[in-house]
Amino acid sequence: MKRYELHSHTNFSDGKTSIEEMVNKAYELNSAIAITDHFIGDEFGINKILYSNISSLDSFLKRRDKFSKIFDEVVFGIEITRVNPRKIPEMAMAAKKHGFIVLVHGETGGDKVPAGTNTAALNCEYVDILAHPGHLSEEDALRAKQNKIFIEITAREIHRSENPEIAKICKKFNLEMVINTDAHSADELIDYETANNVGLNAGLSEDEVWQANENAKKFFKKFI
Ligand SMILES: [Zn+2]
Ligand SMILES: [Zn+2]
Repeated sequence: MKRYELHSHTNFSDGKTSIEEMVNKAYELNSAIAITDHFIGDEFGINKILYSNISSLDSFLKRRDKFSKIFDEVVFGIEITRVNPRKIPEMAMAAKKHGFIVLVHGETGGDKVPAGTNTAALNCEYVDILAHPGHLSEEDALRAKQNKIFIEITAREIHRSENPEIAKICKKFNLEMVINTDAHSADELIDYETANNVGLNAGLSEDEVWQANENAKKFFKKFI
């Protein structure tokens, strides 16, 4: 079965692997892939040089222009990461306007971001995916439903223990899930079988895993 990966990082931000290697590895695993490096806006103005790649959408646009001509079945997004929650709407809107997939790095215990990030993301119609949200309140679940935002079940080791609680609330509110790797190197990408195990360990059935992959597939195809 073919997989659709909607969350991955390269050495453009903090990943270890070049985009070429990531894409080739995904192909090997029978996976289509979205490259979604971290986007921090101008929050870190003082580190402008260090973060110049990931603080301006221009650099993301240039890279997409270059690589979308080279690769088939690769789409591009950004992951809004560790910003003031009040900035999320404007950053998400700007990225969406340019046709990027918009993820927000959620409030996982494994890699902390400001409190209020989940709520700000789920209130925003321009956000597509809330990544590793950690704890999701019932109010947040209703926001996700209203704005049709996917909730992520993650294969990433530092966040994985939170999956069962997230899956449970998604099922209770009938939210749409996606299973992502959040891979920061090519060896963290996975095939369908491994994603299936991640889903089963989160308390999903095989049908629910299949549905999550279908959600990703349908969404992915809008960007090709
Ligand atoms: Zn990262
Ligand atoms: Zn990520």
